[in-house]
Amino acid sequence: MAQRTKHEDCSLPTAAGPLTLHAVYHELYSAPLPSTHRFPMAKFRLLRRLLLDEQVLQANQIRRPLSIPRRDLERIHRRSYHQAFSRDQLSRSEQRRIGLPATRPLVQRTWLSVGGTLLTARLALQHGIACHLAGGTHHAHPGFGSGFCIFNDVATTARVLLDNGEVQRLLVVDLDVHQGDGTAACFADEPRITTLSVHAASNFPLRKVASDIDIPLEDATGDDDYLAAIGDRLPQVLDDQQPDLVLFNAGVDPHRDDRLGRLELSDEGLLRRDRLVLDAALRRSIPIATVIGGGYDELMPLVRRHAIVIRAAVEQARLFGLS
Ligand SMILES: [Zn+2]
Repeated sequence: MAQRTKHEDCSLPTAAGPLTLHAVYHELYSAPLPSTHRFPMAKFRLLRRLLLDEQVLQANQIRRPLSIPRRDLERIHRRSYHQAFSRDQLSRSEQRRIGLPATRPLVQRTWLSVGGTLLTARLALQHGIACHLAGGTHHAHPGFGSGFCIFNDVATTARVLLDNGEVQRLLVVDLDVHQGDGTAACFADEPRITTLSVHAASNFPLRKVASDIDIPLEDATGDDDYLAAIGDRLPQVLDDQQPDLVLFNAGVDPHRDDRLGRLELSDEGLLRRDRLVLDAALRRSIPIATVIGGGYDELMPLVRRHAIVIRAAVEQARLFGLS
């Protein structure tokens, strides 16, 4: 990691300060879907546009990923599964469980997005912090997809980095409102990867897969209780595990206006959450990579919500003097 300054030692930089955050995006992420489809696929394209228009990011901060190499994807996903998906040969029930059609553009964006999370993680290891304007497909298991998740980008990234010796220990902080069952299933027997999931207990998936640490919350949990639940556990987990990298799923579906969420977070609550997680990692000199995770609402309010973690990351990168 680059040299950094502790939070307390550093006053807020002026607006004219350097923009230092590294971000990852590909123009093929928003693959076309039938207009009646309920997945908000345009959000990736609109998120990049919003971040540029509002000068949260500049175009030269955004890197374009390559597709995940097959040998890397196969560290998590079975060849029989990824081939059947990529050739549109999954059974109807397997396809229905995913909820997305295996069109050519969709297949392409699926391979790209996993490559994007891997690139984001490597940028975080290099620079201290980096953000993917996609990712967080945490319901994907090694042999099947589920709930709009086809390949598990965070699990694949974690496994590749570990196998390559790029990290020795890794923590997944999954704050999407749905439990991170796919990621938990991938690492049930991997002590070097710790999985932490904070989610609405009554929400999808019906059958949870135990993470190393699960924090299930009651319906209608609001900002203060939610933030207390994370603040009570995360610092201790970081101190105990001392990971070389945090992979942070900053899903915005805990928001009170989310169609699938069941929790009651405000915009301010999401911002405080993201600051809390980023600060907890960075003040311990632990690099952190973010993915946007889930969110279900009208497009523009949703995109604004996904921008929160990027804004928080820009702010924290400045506070900690990362470049
Ligand atoms: Zn979700």
